[in-house]
Amino acid sequence: MARILDGKETAEALRSTLMARLDALRRAGKEPHLAIILAGDSKPAAMYTAFMQKVAAGYDIPVRLVKEPETVTEAVLLADVAALNEDEAVTGILLMMPLPRGIDEGRVVETMDPDKDIDGLTTMNSGRLASGKEGLFPCTPRACMAILSHYGIETDGRRAVVIGRSNVVGGPVAQLLQRANATVTVCHSHTKDLASVTREADILVAALGRPETVTVDMVKPGAAVIDVGISRVSGRTVGDVAFAEVKDVAGAITPVPGGVGSVTTTMVIEALITAAERQR
Ligand code: NAP
Repeated sequence: MARILDGKETAEALRSTLMARLDALRRAGKEPHLAIILAGDSKPAAMYTAFMQKVAAGYDIPVRLVKEPETVTEAVLLADVAALNEDEAVTGILLMMPLPRGIDEGRVVETMDPDKDIDGLTTMNSGRLASGKEGLFPCTPRACMAILSHYGIETDGRRAVVIGRSNVVGGPVAQLLQRANATVTVCHSHTKDLASVTREADILVAALGRPETVTVDMVKPGAAVIDVGISRVSGRTVGDVAFAEVKDVAGAITPVPGGVGSVTTTMVIEALITAAERQR
């Protein structure tokens, strides 16, 4: 039976370090301040916003919510972002996705000040990640890395396979693993014989958004399996990994729920603190 890589435990362990960094910032007269832009009627976006407000409150971090209706125009959203960029009190901006239909998400994202872009969505920050520079990088991939680090799972010199190549999860997690000296293979929907590739992995990250697709025959015995997927199936929340069977062969595995998702919001706070430290 695999060791369970508990997201809540990881987030709790990170909290004391984050509190110390927050204290140092406050002593230096800088208060991190989160701004969230929530536009439209998306239920998941509204739920994530409410959850993020709760997490920030747990760190006594003020949150400014900019709420716009489903009928908002792109011009109004661009003006919202510009105002938050200009406001020196705001240290980080979260743009909740999806934006209402008809809005060019990429255009709105690109106007964000890259040094306040705490989810690392701008091309400036993806360029910094790709070229090994310092920057603000997507929170879910950093949550995967935080779990590996918390449980002492070595990445240096090990084979990692990432299923998924999106700009928010698969792509950046592969780059972060490579930075941590893993030998990384990225799989996607055109990959032939996926199982033969995934069976090579010492560390397998599943970020394909297809419920319970990674089955026991796709996992090398003893591998660490990080399941990023979140899907609702018959009223249950499940990941991309068939947990019930894979846990018997993997060496370590994240559950869903209670795995990567539980660390992602802590990484938002971490990015907000990092942004405030740099702006100081
Ligand atoms: P996405 O944009 O839909 O990307 C999915 C990726 O998986 C694509 O690169 C796609 O390949 C690949 N893929 C799809 N089907 C495949 C298959 N059968 N075999 C191999 N590769 C396949 O999704 P995403 O935004 O990266 O999110 C992935 C999952 O993570 C979703 O379940 C999402 O809900 C979850 N998520 C979780 C968190 C968290 O905090 N835990 C945060 C964000 C997202 P192509 O590029 O060829 O299309």
